[in-house]
Amino acid sequence: MSVSVTQHKMFIGGEWVESSSGETMEVLNPATGEAIAEVPRAGVEDVERAVEAARRAWEEWKLKTPKDRMELLLALADLVDEHAEELARLESLNVGKPWWVARDEPPAIADNLRFFAGAARNLEGKSAGEYVEGYTSMIRREPLGIVAGICPWNYPLYMAGWKLGPALAAGNVQIVKPAEQTPLTLLRFAELAQEILPAGVLQVVTGDGVPAGDALVRHPDIRLVSLTGDTATGKLIAANAAQTVKRLHLELGGKAPMVVLDDADPAAVAEAVKVGGYFNSGQDCTASSRILVSERVYDDVLAATVESVESLTVGDPATDDEIGMGPVISAEQQQRVLGFLERAVDAKATVVTGGGAVGDRGFFVKPTIVADVEQDAEIVQSEVFGPVVTVQRFASDDAAIEMANDVRYGLAASVFSENVGRALKVAARLDFGTVWVNEHLFPLTSEMPHGGFKESGYGKDMSLYSMEEYTRVKHVCVKLAE
Ligand code: NAD
Repeated sequence: MSVSVTQHKMFIGGEWVESSSGETMEVLNPATGEAIAEVPRAGVEDVERAVEAARRAWEEWKLKTPKDRMELLLALADLVDEHAEELARLESLNVGKPWWVARDEPPAIADNLRFFAGAARNLEGKSAGEYVEGYTSMIRREPLGIVAGICPWNYPLYMAGWKLGPALAAGNVQIVKPAEQTPLTLLRFAELAQEILPAGVLQVVTGDGVPAGDALVRHPDIRLVSLTGDTATGKLIAANAAQTVKRLHLELGGKAPMVVLDDADPAAVAEAVKVGGYFNSGQDCTASSRILVSERVYDDVLAATVESVESLTVGDPATDDEIGMGPVISAEQQQRVLGFLERAVDAKATVVTGGGAVGDRGFFVKPTIVADVEQDAEIVQSEVFGPVVTVQRFASDDAAIEMANDVRYGLAASVFSENVGRALKVAARLDFGTVWVNEHLFPLTSEMPHGGFKESGYGKDMSLYSMEEYTRVKHVCVKLAE
C-alpha cells in the first residue's frame, strides 16, 4: 500500500512559500523508511528573505509591552493544548516516538510557553541608583532583535518551544530552522500561530544545515543563534559566528553517567536505566548512556537491569500505542549506532543483551547493554545517540567520580544511593549541568535550567536563566539638574 506524501511550504514573512530554487526535501517515517512529506529546501536567498521580513516585523514587535507579549504567548500555549493530540501524533509519526513519549510533549511545551509569558513581565536589571554624585544610573534590559533557533530531530517541536518561549517573551523576533528530518510539527505549529502572531515575528525556514542553517549563522543582522545539536556542529557554528561576533547559545551532546553507589537499590536502578537509557530510543542528550556501578553490587544491578531492558517491546508506534521503544531517526543513524557496537565488540567488549538491528523495515536497533569496556573506549567516550548503554564497575566513590567526569561532555548525570547525604557529596563533585539523585532524565520543569558544561555547550534553556541569553543589558546614565 503506498502512503500519501503531504506537500508543505515554509513560513516566511507571514506567507507560505516555496524555496527560491524550487527544490524540496523528502521527510521519512523512520518506522517504515517511507516518505511521508516534502518540504522546501531553503537556500541563502530564502534566509535573506526571512531576515528582511524579520527586520520589518521587529519595528512593530519591539513596541509591544510585556503584557502584550504575555497575552500572545498565553494564546499560543492554549493553541498547543487544543491541538495536543494532533501535534503528538504527527511527532510520533515523524520521529518514531512511542505514543506515551509523544503525548507528554505538547503539555510540556504549553507549560513552557506559559512560564515565559510570565517571565516577559519580570525582566529586571540588578540595580539602579546614584553611584556618582549628580547622576542617576539605570539598567535597561533589552531584546537583541532578530534571533535564530536551529533545532535537532530528537525533540523537534519541544526544542523549538524551548527557544521560542524566551525569545519572544524577551521581545525578539525569531527565525527557526527545524532539523531536515523532522520539520512537520513546527510547520503545523507555525500554521496555528499565524492567527496569533504578527507576520515575521516567528518564521520557519526548512532546509539543510548548509546552506540554510549556515546562512543564519553568518547573517550580520541576526544577533543570536541558539543551536541544539551535535558538539561537532556547535564547534563549527562557533567558528562561523565569530565572523559577526554573534552571541551563541549551544545545547550540544552528552554522555551522561549514572553513578550507582554500593547501597543503591538494584531494582530502582534497573527501572531508571530502562527509562533513562532507552527513552526516545536513547536519542536524548541526557540519556543515561554510561552506568557506573560499585563492584559490591555490580552483579545484582546488571542482572536486574538486563531483565528490565529485555522487557522493552520494540515496534512501529503507528500500529501499537503500547510499544516501549520505536526506531532511531534514520538509516544513517541506525548504521552509526551499529558501527559503534561493531567496533566495541572488536575491542573485546561484551554485548550482554541486544546488539544489531530489528527486522528489515524501518530503522530499528535492539535495546542494547554493553559490558567489559575500558574507560578510554570509543563507546564510553563518544555519544552514540541510540538505545545503547555501557556498564562499568568501580572500586570506590572517588574512582566513580573520576570515571564519571572523564569525558569531554558535561550535560547531565545521576547518583543512586539510599544515603542522600552521600549522594549529595558525589553530586557536588560531578562536572555536569544537571545532576539527579535517585532519578535519571526526569523531572524537567520550566522553572529549572537545562544546559551543559565543557563540550556540551553553554547557556541555558528553560528557567529565568534562559532570559539572559535572549536579552542585553544597557546602562543609561542621566545627569541630574544642578
Ligand atoms: P546536528 O548537529 O546534526 O543538527 C542540529 C541542527 O543543526 C540541524 O537543524 C542541522 O540542520 C543544523 N546544522 C548542521 N550543520 C550546520 C551548520 N554548519 N550550520 C548551521 N546549522 C547546521 O544534530 P542532530 O543530529 O539533529 O541532533 C542530535 C544532537 O543534538 C545530539 O548530539 C544531541 O546530543 C544533541 N542534543 C542536545 C540537546 C541539549 O539540550 N544539549 C538536546 C537535544 C539534542
